[in-house]
Amino acid sequence: MNEEQLRREMVNYSHKIYRSGWVANHDGNLTARLDDSRLLCTPTAQSKGDVGLEHLIIVDDNNKVLAGTRRPFSELQLHRAAYRARPEIGCVIHAHPPTASGFAVAGISLDPPFMAEPVVSLGKTIPLVSFFPPKDPRLDSVIEEGFGKADVLMLANHGVLTVGATFEQAFLRMELVEHLAKIALVARQLGGPIPLDASVVDALAKKGRPSSAAKGRENLQRNVSSSAPEPSVDANKIVAQALQKLR
Ligand SMILES: [Zn+2]
Repeated sequence: MNEEQLRREMVNYSHKIYRSGWVANHDGNLTARLDDSRLLCTPTAQSKGDVGLEHLIIVDDNNKVLAGTRRPFSELQLHRAAYRARPEIGCVIHAHPPTASGFAVAGISLDPPFMAEPVVSLGKTIPLVSFFPPKDPRLDSVIEEGFGKADVLMLANHGVLTVGATFEQAFLRMELVEHLAKIALVARQLGGPIPLDASVVDALAKKGRPSSAAKGRENLQRNVSSSAPEPSVDANKIVAQALQKLR
């Protein structure tokens, strides 16, 4: 994907997170990695529903604006930590989807897994990382540690942060965690979700994502090439058996 296409994608997905109801006022931000030091970013002080191509900016390592007329947003620290932790990713999305953010501000995790499909797509854990004020170096550490084991982080007292090879992938991960939070909320009103058996979770996770970092590299490969490796027969068999047990 060239820079022009990436810019169009950024505008498209800014509008999508706004239409999904995951942001209000000037909330939320999107970045794409252009190279080792430059990030393409949505600007601060702009509704994500109104972001246009003319508003996008490029910043360097020190958050200095290299291109564009707008100012950078203050949550770039979250994005930088994500890119440091995951060299293979290309895009980061941050938003405040109301249900998942509700769990995060209540300090309630969506772990342990209670449905099969999200384990295949998101892995065995959706870490809920501790709150630290902006610029606190401990915020870098918890974000980096979280993305070492997952593609979606719930940020205590704040919102949700997702990564992907593409904006589509980061967006779909945010959509899935918000949907999962809605299901968890209903389940909690009915007595609480019943966790999946750990052996089933392990089998599902093996099929979906051998490890978060390995999966990220795999997704990147899929993006640039259509010859992605097929899952092994054994992995398919294990998952078929696991799903059979669930039915
Ligand atoms: Zn935020």
